[in-house]
Order: sequence, then structure tokens, then C-alpha cells
Amino acid sequence: MSQTAASNNAIRSYTPPNRILLGPGPSELHPRAMAALGQPVVGYMDPSFVQMMDEIKVLMRYAFQTENALTFPASGPGSVGMETCFVNLVEPGDKVVVCRNGVFGGRMIDNVERCGGVPVVLEQTWGQAVDPNALEDLLKQHPDAKIVAFVHAETSTGAQSDAKTLCEVARRHNCLTIVDCVTSLGGTPVLVDQWGADAVYSGSQKCLSCTPGLAPLTFSERAVEHVRARKKKGQSWFMDLTLVLEYWGATQRTYHHTAPGNSLYALHETLLLLREEGLENAWARHHNNHMALRAGLETFGLNYVVPEAARLPQVNSVWVPEGIDELALRRRLLLEFNLEIGAGLGPLAGKIWRIGLMGYSCRPENVLACLSALGTAMADLGLPADSVAAQAAAQAVYSQLKIAA
Ligand SMILES: *Cc1c(COP(=O)(O)O)cnc(C)c1O
Repeated sequence: MSQTAASNNAIRSYTPPNRILLGPGPSELHPRAMAALGQPVVGYMDPSFVQMMDEIKVLMRYAFQTENALTFPASGPGSVGMETCFVNLVEPGDKVVVCRNGVFGGRMIDNVERCGGVPVVLEQTWGQAVDPNALEDLLKQHPDAKIVAFVHAETSTGAQSDAKTLCEVARRHNCLTIVDCVTSLGGTPVLVDQWGADAVYSGSQKCLSCTPGLAPLTFSERAVEHVRARKKKGQSWFMDLTLVLEYWGATQRTYHHTAPGNSLYALHETLLLLREEGLENAWARHHNNHMALRAGLETFGLNYVVPEAARLPQVNSVWVPEGIDELALRRRLLLEFNLEIGAGLGPLAGKIWRIGLMGYSCRPENVLACLSALGTAMADLGLPADSVAAQAAAQAVYSQLKIAA
């Protein structure tokens, strides 16, 4: 037996620690999703499985607030959702306006380039919403643009843009829209039909609290016609909508790829949870817990990165206090308090913390645990933070909102 094989004998079953997940995703898995994952595997053509797939499509239309026929979850993380939209809609030579106000807008530019498209970038200040007037001006300069792409909820900064207005501007200039709703779906209003958005993608592991690895997608009739009218096949076999549809869309289904069945059971369960709670109630829950967390964070003297009007309740980005080792503090929160918060990305790395309140993670007990742990860790560094006062400030918000914490 080789040395490597012998040392492999030390490997045991993996048991992950039970963390409080308050980062920018993944969020904690809802117990009902966890139970759904442990159900037996069935074949991807099993009539029972096919019925569950049909129900997922119905529940997804509710979550997205759309009547779009082409609504299904792609087998892959949010990034596969993003790429599916670009590889299907963008043809070589197409001019695509991409609004960049954070990391994910940057990935959209990369997607356009890899599809052979020509990106026209609307550079916006990180931490702010995309300015619809700036988009209008840019589209006037580029009357041949075919698509406008933007991120509704920029998880890298915590800023939300006005998707309805941005879609209206794009339509006025005869452009289709690709909208990233990975972090917004289930946390803040995503109103696909009211916006008139054309290709919208999301992720399973943020405000839906499902396992990572699925990407809810929805396409308008206009987007479907656009894909059908392509002159040339897209570069991706796996993500080609016309092929995937033979499995997800057809009445006579044919094999395309083996669906991640157990993850889909969990998605079915979390979409059902969202319908049981009601979208408005889910949005209100995210807002209320955000208000309580914010009251506590403000007692620590922490300032939000994003102006109030564009602030996402599910991504609380605050500036890190001057002169501290923020990585060491986050490590302590994780290892000693079992609590994960997020760091800054790109130019904001080391400068901000991102405290997520997403899906099942978005609960009063987690808000209070976060204020307790963060307050303790900050006070130990000599910063003026009092966790008891912070928790009291959060409790006061809950009392005002009549929520028992
Ligand atoms: C998380 C995220 C993605 C990518 O999702 P993955 O599941 O990590 O691939 C894309 N866009 C936004 C805005 C996100 O927050």
C-alpha cells in the first residue's frame, strides 16, 4: 500500500461545524430544506419527479412575479444563471451596455467579451445605485446597442438599483435587459413582469436559503424570440436554452443532463416556504431585521457604505474602523463565536464588512448574536463598543415593530 493510501485511513466522515451564517451568502439552510435533501433519489424521468419539476416552475413564477412560460432553475450556481443569459442572448458583434457599480457588473463585462460581444461600460460609483439618466445618455450615444445588463442587488457593496426604471430606459431604446437578481430574490421586491425585464437570473443560496448550486431563471417572450432568431449556435452546449428546454419545457421530455434531483427537492421546499410566508411578509422580515441590526451597529459608531435610499436590507455593508486587523476580528468571530460575516471584495477588500441577513439566516436571534459577538470583539480591541447597549437598541426596534426577539 502506498504511503498516501495509508495516511488516507485517518480520514473520517465529514461533519461541518454548525455556523451562524451572516455573510453575503450562502445563508443557513432552512431545516425543511435540509430534510428535503435527504429524500431518496429518483430517476430524472420518473413521473413523480416530473410533477415536482412542474411545481417548481409554478412556484418560481410566484417568486419572480411573472407569467413567463420559460421559467426554470438551471443546474449550477448563480454564475451559471448569469452565463446562461449571456451565452444565449449575446451574439458575436452585439453591442451590450453593462452597468458596473460593483464586482458582479464586472463579471457581466467578462461574459459579454467571451461571447464575442462588444461591451459598452457605464461606470458607476461603487456603493451607489445605477443612475438611470446616465444610462439614458449612454444609450443615446449608442443607438445600435442591443442589450442592457445590470445587477439589481450588488452584493459586493450592498446597493440596490431601480430595476423598473432601468428596464424602462432600456426598452425605450429597443434594448433587451439582462438583470442579476441573485441576492434580491426573496429579500426585496423582484417584479419581473412589472419591470418588463427580459432575462433574469438568481441563485438558490441567498434569500431563498436553499443549498448552493441552482440558478432560478426566467425569460420573457421577447427574449425567447431573440434566442430562436440567432443566426449561429451559441458557444455553450450545456447552457443552450433550446436544448435545455427539451427537458424543462417540453411536454414529451427528453434527456439533456442528469438533474441535481435532491437539490431540486430542496428548492421546491424553499419556494413553498416562500409562498407560505408570502412575498410581502418575507420582504418585511428582511427590512425589520435590518432595521434592528442597523440600530445596534450604529451604537458601535459603524457607518453604512451605501446611502439609505439604495441600501439593501439583506447586505449590511459598513466601514471597518480605522487601524484594526479586520481579518483577525472576523477569524475570531468565526472560530470563537461560530459566526460568519463577509469581507469586502475588490477595491473594498479590507475596508468594509458585509453582514448578510438572508433568508433563514435573517432572524432576530441571529441579529442579537451578531451584535453580541461583534461588540465583544470590538471592545476587546479598545473600540467604544458595548454589546449590551447594542442589543438593547435592536430590542427597542423589535418592540416598536412588535416582534418578539
Ligand atoms: C452570489 C452572486 C452571484 C454568483 O452566484 P454563485 O452562486 O456564487 O455563482 C452573482 N451575482 C450576484 C449579485 C451575487 O450576489
